[in-house]
Amino acid sequence: MLVKNPHFVISAVKPEQYPVTDMLEIAFAGRSNAGKSSLINALVGRKRLAYSGSTQGMTRQINFYNIDDELMFVDLPGYGYAAVSKDQKSLWGRVIEQYLNVRPQLYMVILLLDVRHDPSEDDIVMYNWICESGLAHAVVLTKCDKLSRMKCKERVRAISASLGAGSAENFYPVSALDRTGIEELWAAIDEVMREEG
Ligand code: GDP
Repeated sequence: MLVKNPHFVISAVKPEQYPVTDMLEIAFAGRSNAGKSSLINALVGRKRLAYSGSTQGMTRQINFYNIDDELMFVDLPGYGYAAVSKDQKSLWGRVIEQYLNVRPQLYMVILLLDVRHDPSEDDIVMYNWICESGLAHAVVLTKCDKLSRMKCKERVRAISASLGAGSAENFYPVSALDRTGIEELWAAIDEVMREEG
């Protein structure tokens, strides 16, 4: 997939701040540092469309990116950053939850997990929510270049099992660094878009 003109639209916290559009949206969710910005940049073939906050984990807005007027990428705030207060954590939780619950044009959620780590409690809650929502979804296991191909396969099996997934069918090992899995993920996005559109 060749993206020609991806651009940042707006950062929002409350639903009234979300952009008014009827484009379909794909949301990216994951712990801070899971590799969301890097994945979005790899998907659109740009170095710096999405960027992590200057202080790691401190971006709590939802960032909307217009992808060639075809669809919107929605970068949800990274959760699970250890160095913030409980109050801030629950505020972030609300920002994510609100978006997921109120946005009618949301049709796919991509959950990112670092391939080297086991899912956290927050990851499990998010995964279960996505499954129950009935939305199309993919689980992206990031930073695969850090492991051998064999080890990566093993981790895909282990992570899908610990999430209680019936199969690893929707799981995509990916590297933003060497672009492993990026085209496969686009193919999955395209397929869902065709079904939806
Ligand atoms: P975010 O907080 O989820 O947006 O995560 P970032 O995209 O900022 O990535 C967090 C860190 O992981 C950064 O240091 C990235 O360079 C690194 N990273 C992200 N994706 C990859 C990848 O595919 N391979 C490697 N080796 N590092 C990655």
